[in-house]
Amino acid sequence: MGADVADEARRAVLKAGLAGAVAALVARPRGARASAPLRAGTGEGRRTLELPGFVDLQVNGFAGVDFGDPALTPEAVLRAVEAIGATGVTRFLPTLITSPVEAFLACARTIARTSHPAIAGIHMEGPYISPEDGYRGAHARAFVRGADLDDFRRRQDAAEGRIRLLTVAPEAPGAIRVIENAVTSGVRVAIGHTGASASQIADAVSAGATLSTHLGNGCPSVVPRHPNVIWEQLGEDRLLASFIVDGHHLSPATVKSMIRAKTPARSILVTDAIAAAGMPPGRYTLGGEEVELSSTGRVAVPGASNLAGSALRLDVAIGNTVRFTGLPLEEVVPMASARPAEYLGVPTAGKVVAEWDQAAFALRVVRVVP
Ligand SMILES: [Zn+2]
Repeated sequence: MGADVADEARRAVLKAGLAGAVAALVARPRGARASAPLRAGTGEGRRTLELPGFVDLQVNGFAGVDFGDPALTPEAVLRAVEAIGATGVTRFLPTLITSPVEAFLACARTIARTSHPAIAGIHMEGPYISPEDGYRGAHARAFVRGADLDDFRRRQDAAEGRIRLLTVAPEAPGAIRVIENAVTSGVRVAIGHTGASASQIADAVSAGATLSTHLGNGCPSVVPRHPNVIWEQLGEDRLLASFIVDGHHLSPATVKSMIRAKTPARSILVTDAIAAAGMPPGRYTLGGEEVELSSTGRVAVPGASNLAGSALRLDVAIGNTVRFTGLPLEEVVPMASARPAEYLGVPTAGKVVAEWDQAAFALRVVRVVP
């Protein structure tokens, strides 16, 4: 095939991809902005840039604060908001994973009570997920359960209606009904921690699911080569996908291949950060369970092989994504700012003045203007 034909085919695919992304963002309200153009300074391989504030859809904790700790206080939430703000993140979703329901309710109430413009809502990840090892990741099997409208309403009431994103496994009993109901009430629904079949994924998408949570993770290390839960979501154009690009959750070639297949227009960078983020190696908690941050930046339950969140910062994730994919910074930044904001239906907030070192793939946040 000649280069022109290949280019034409590529353009056709990109055009079709754009239509899919627009369809997936159909609920986007007027006023949600597209990515702001980058304003660059000069320098040899280094540029000073003014970027839109970063948006992170998945933050379990930061700087020693665990949002899933039932003893969480508004003061602790604000400490984490301030620390995460220094990394350029001006909007994010505190994320609560599978836990005893009373713990969820306590944490949701505290987060809902904490008034700060950076808190764009709550991401409820679980407990309507797969109970199987591998798929459930670090989520405690004892508290995994089927999806239930009354249970979800109870949690949403405690959160004062601030649950904005719900991650479920399509195969969890009752999941499809809860997806339809959540979407109708304005909650975005993601697929994650799932061993769903192709038809179960299709049903979830038809019911209104629009995102894959940390695609390629929340999955056993060995799965059928094809079809499998990763390919089915990667190939579904009505699903955007979030990726944890810390170099531990996905290999560089996996990040490159997945973002190419999903297209940058449908890709979102998240950190899945836990209390250990921004802290030295040692023991921390994730949803009340003990986890360990190694000297190489890997977070796991002591003695277990699977990862349990990350110590990633979103500014570092941007640099890693440029390094792994070969995409220009200008195409990667929206994956961590405008795109997740559009997905939530909110504008990005504030500006990040940052220095970009192309040789080191390093984005250094100089100043954050709220
Ligand atoms: Zn997860």
